[in-house]
Amino acid sequence: MALLPILEFPDPRLRTKAATVEAAQVTTPEFQKLLDDMFETMYDAPGIGLTASQVDQHLRFMVIDVSEGKDAPMVFINPEITARDGDQGLQEGCLSVPGIFADVTRSNRITVRYLDRDAREQELTTDSLLAVCIQHEMDHLEGKLFVDYLSPLKREMVRKKLSKQRKHAA
Ligand SMILES: [Zn+2]
Repeated sequence: MALLPILEFPDPRLRTKAATVEAAQVTTPEFQKLLDDMFETMYDAPGIGLTASQVDQHLRFMVIDVSEGKDAPMVFINPEITARDGDQGLQEGCLSVPGIFADVTRSNRITVRYLDRDAREQELTTDSLLAVCIQHEMDHLEGKLFVDYLSPLKREMVRKKLSKQRKHAA
């Protein structure tokens, strides 16, 4: 397995709209290896979700693990939200916007249809952190970031803070 470089805001590649994954592609060794590499990259970061878009592969899927023990990996391929209910606000962060956290309002309960890593159709109804995480990751597939929910002024502050962080790290 290998760690993949994660694109960081304001990299324009993060704005790419991801393409649908062909079901036949899912079970290929190349795709399975990409999933494994994405899990390794996400756990190493550490984070609870990572989309293909963030590692510069513009396909509609993501890996998620919101468990305490980091032992419940989930793969969502071509996810579609078919029902939503209520609102919740949670403080979110993002591996592509390191060190920045902000409250975002999202649906509290969602039903999502997707393919799992064996290309089987699944449907899941969930709430709380997992529901927030799925919605956050699905935004990435549309080229949208959680900082887009902030005011333009706040987003500009985020951009400056990250560019300062990068200078210090260089
Ligand atoms: Zn993110």
